[in-house]
Amino acid sequence: VTVGAVRERAPGERRVALVPEAVTLLRRAGVDVLVEAGAGSGAWFTDADYTEAGATVVPPDELYARADAVLCVGPPDAETATALRPGQTLIGLLEPLRHPGLVQELTGRGIRTVSLDLLPRTLSRAQSMDALTSQANVAGYKAAVLAADSYDRFFPMLTTAAGTMRPAQVLVLGAGVAGLQAIATARRLGAVVTAYDVRPESRGEVESLGARFLDLPRPPGTGSGAGQGGYARELTEEEQRAQREALDAHISRTDIVITTAQVPGRKPPLLVTADAVERMASGSVVVDLAASDLGGNVEGSEPDKTTVLDNGVTVIGAGRLPSAMATAASTAYARNLVALLRHLVCDGELVLDPADEITAALMGTSAPKGGEPS
Ligand code: NAD
Repeated sequence: VTVGAVRERAPGERRVALVPEAVTLLRRAGVDVLVEAGAGSGAWFTDADYTEAGATVVPPDELYARADAVLCVGPPDAETATALRPGQTLIGLLEPLRHPGLVQELTGRGIRTVSLDLLPRTLSRAQSMDALTSQANVAGYKAAVLAADSYDRFFPMLTTAAGTMRPAQVLVLGAGVAGLQAIATARRLGAVVTAYDVRPESRGEVESLGARFLDLPRPPGTGSGAGQGGYARELTEEEQRAQREALDAHISRTDIVITTAQVPGRKPPLLVTADAVERMASGSVVVDLAASDLGGNVEGSEPDKTTVLDNGVTVIGAGRLPSAMATAASTAYARNLVALLRHLVCDGELVLDPADEITAALMGTSAPKGGEPS
């Protein structure tokens, strides 16, 4: 079997699907590896690094002609999608819940799609392939580091000859993979961290990282915020309003807010209103990891845009945070792909067995976990 890693074409995307160490592992597993010329440059890997690891560096035409499976990070652009041929398999974070049309179009042309976004997250057999987790870990870490960088005071409590500086108060909203990594990173830098999530089971994880779990009153008669597959459910309008009101007081008392709340296939929930940001002290920092073209967790935040408001609060709409740490993110992603290919390659052939739980989920032929397309 031959796999080919393409150069990512999305603006600002610096990650690459395979890194040289992954090429070595795949070669050992009997997989032939093609890499598009220049594919690794954004993550600081040269064509020579790939050749040395055992890959063949090729122009795109040759890659599409020879590869049985095309490996990518994000969804392909129109040109790449057109270049794929029937019988070929496309493997990547194809975002089928956000762009259902792409997968449908490819399937219609006889191209098989394996969307890592559809991996059953809670299945322990699938953990090593979990690219959403590996990328969210990078994003959470980077969000905390960005917040610390934009904050003009210390994160830790410092006792010096000039007196004692109080530690920063950090509030993390959404304690999934990214949120937990943001909590851990802010804690390592010495901040005092409080966190909140709608899934009640996240309390234990938050507390085990040395952060305080924020208890918010829920409107009477409402159930847990947990949905299917370990994900959160979408809250009702009334629940969302109650949540925002309850959060407002905490937000105004904190120095740093990092938001990471997502519901699969839905618009991210609005957690931090413009009014709440207005009441924060000058010098405070808000990082919205959920910022997207659909809107984010913070009212008015936009992806890849940092705004210093009139009241002196910096609002950072995070764009592609994993891409901002392209080497770490690509290395982790490539390990996920190696684990996946080890699962899919049998006797030197790529086998997509619809009866296999993981494969069926990734191909979208079993019910998606945790959400319906909106
Ligand atoms: P995600 O990116 O979908 O969402 C991030 C967090 O936002 C989640 O914790 C969610 O509960 C929270 N959220 C949603 N709406 C909210 C709201 N209105 N207010 C506050 N918080 C809100 O989640 P994720 O990081 O991809 O994790 C999804 C699930 O998968 C989690 O349960 C996680 O523990 C689980 N997971 C399990 C494994 C494993 O078992 N191996 C691995 C990875 C993730």
